[in-house]
Amino acid sequence: MSIEFDAPKPVANAQFVLKTVAEEMMRPNSRYFDEHEHEIPWDYIEFMHSAMKAMGGNSLAPREPSPSSPPPEDERHRDDGGKRPPIGYQLIAAQMEALSWGDVGLYHCLPGGGLGAAAVHAAGSPEQREKFLARFHGDKPTFAAMCITEAGAGSDNSAIRTRATLDEKTKEWVINGEKIFVTGGDKSFTEYEKLGRGFIVVWASIDPAAGRAGMRAFVVEGGTPGVRVVKLEHKMGIRVSDTAAISLVDARVPFENILGSPTVDQNPTGFKKAMATFDATRPLVAATGVGVARAAFEFLKERLAEREIHIRYGLPRQKLTSIERDVIDMEIMLKSAWLMVIKAVWMADNKKPNALEASMSKVRSGDICTKITQKVVEMLGPLGYSREFLAEKWMRDAKITDIYEGTGQINRLVVARQILGYSGAELR
Ligand SMILES: Cc1cc2nc3c(=O)[nH]c(=O)nc-3n(C[C@H](O)[C@H](O)[C@H](O)COP(=O)(O)OP(=O)(O)OC[C@H]3O[C@@H](n4cnc5c(N)ncnc54)[C@H](O)[C@@H]3O)c2cc1C
Repeated sequence: MSIEFDAPKPVANAQFVLKTVAEEMMRPNSRYFDEHEHEIPWDYIEFMHSAMKAMGGNSLAPREPSPSSPPPEDERHRDDGGKRPPIGYQLIAAQMEALSWGDVGLYHCLPGGGLGAAAVHAAGSPEQREKFLARFHGDKPTFAAMCITEAGAGSDNSAIRTRATLDEKTKEWVINGEKIFVTGGDKSFTEYEKLGRGFIVVWASIDPAAGRAGMRAFVVEGGTPGVRVVKLEHKMGIRVSDTAAISLVDARVPFENILGSPTVDQNPTGFKKAMATFDATRPLVAATGVGVARAAFEFLKERLAEREIHIRYGLPRQKLTSIERDVIDMEIMLKSAWLMVIKAVWMADNKKPNALEASMSKVRSGDICTKITQKVVEMLGPLGYSREFLAEKWMRDAKITDIYEGTGQINRLVVARQILGYSGAELR
């Protein structure tokens, strides 16, 4: 089975190329990097950077669309001569699904702006986007990361204690705090000598008394004095992806690196803007979960076929074996999750508010990828449990889909608020 939908031509092309990368580069290295946690896959990073450049740029890093540029060649055949809205997030979702089928941890090591660039894209000014996003399309592979979570402030990110104060003399922000669980934090901040200069986007309060209205995100360039990666997390899954704890002690950041207004009163929506990052990225995380689940599901079907067990689609359910019913149920989960991703990213591409659909897709994907990978291990028995195969790894990798960028519980709350019309304060 493959994930199919009526994909625009560029999406279908990208899926083909990335399937080859997933099969030839990611799968053969999956186990090695799982067993050598924190080893940076330099060859893969360099190769992917060159490959993406050769394919016309790193589409996994957001770029400012130029209103004057013509539609891509592939889109001009469409009825309206290419005037229809762009397919940016749909393309990225298809890429992320395909690469996560290869290896979701290695997917996280793909050069590009990640969540850090997404935050600049969502909350930055046109000048900031120009300044900070161009580097992901340069000669060297470059990374960026997002630092929100702190001890005691994960789901409830309004509780963050990191503080940014303005030094009136030098007109610099001085940031103090400790961030934990930063995906790609090390590659974005420390490894810039071998890579392009990346950055981390640090969330801090400019006025704790103002609550959420006082929260802002700051671009902190790689290598900024006073900032240090103090720990790399040892994890259950996605072990090749570095997850860093980062401390900031009197870290000085240029005044213009604040995303949003420097004063509280002018911009009560600053927090909302930065949170809008998630409306774009949650469906993308959901796409990675679908990719992992599809990897496990296809592996199961291949093993069943080797034992001459084929699924008799079309028979009434009561005539199917329990294995057949389980496989069909998994397939339904997989396809329904993918449809929810497609709807959410289509809405993002078409500039339609998608907070509800973004969180729904994330909840669904988090659920189905943990269920499917676990069921595959169960159905394969020793084959599933053995480290000779990747099924057990996919089960470990899958769980993170339900944790980062809002846990399953938190995204359910977002969905409920959207449907019932409650604010965050009213339903928590
Ligand atoms: C591998 C990995 C990578 C990560 N990458 C990043 C990153 O790049 N940047 C970043 O900033 N953070 C990152 N995180 C952090 C992640 O986003 C948080 O761990 C997550 O948001 C949960 O927050 P917490 O750890 O404080 O858990 P808590 O908020 O303490 O939650 C613990 C449990 O309580 C539940 N819970 C909390 N509040 C409620 C509620 N109101 N109702 C019902 N249940 C609730 C949660 O769902 C969860 O099950 C990463 C985490 C991991 C594990």
